[in-house]
Amino acid sequence: MSLFGEYDSQNIFAAIIRGDAPCYKIYEDDDVLAFLDLFPQAYGHTLVIPKNAKARNLLEVDGDTLAKMMATVQRLTGIIVDELKPDGVQVMQFNGTAGGQTVFHIHMHIVPRWESQGIGAHASGKGDPAELAALQERLVKRIG
Ligand code: 5GP
Repeated sequence: MSLFGEYDSQNIFAAIIRGDAPCYKIYEDDDVLAFLDLFPQAYGHTLVIPKNAKARNLLEVDGDTLAKMMATVQRLTGIIVDELKPDGVQVMQFNGTAGGQTVFHIHMHIVPRWESQGIGAHASGKGDPAELAALQERLVKRIG
């Protein structure tokens, strides 16, 4: 998909926002939803999305929405780092197919990284449901 085009309300994140598809939710407020990546590249891989913007990417999202999303990204990154104690953390965002994007509703990735572990392939290799559920419970307890 190109960098430019129409927002498709059938994309999987739009379905998750509507409640039409499940997710391992770890945080939600009026503006932002955060949930575990179903195909995690590392333990704790989290996605943060705006709920009210029909924006496919960074070029389309309005500044107010972006600011709210990034404030949540910063707060959750701090909590995830504190809870999971990684050696580092990647915060990433992709735009357009050529830019690595596979779901066309703007989102940020929070990916904890450990020196002893490489990073998994992007958007491939489904996470273990029991592990994701346990991690969801652990993070929800911390986030409150
Ligand atoms: P992108 O490639 O667009 O930057 O990131 C999309 C992310 O969404 C990928 O990391 C991929 O693993 C994840 N993903 C794809 N489908 C689903 C899904 O149905 N549920 C969740 N939680 N994550 C998904």
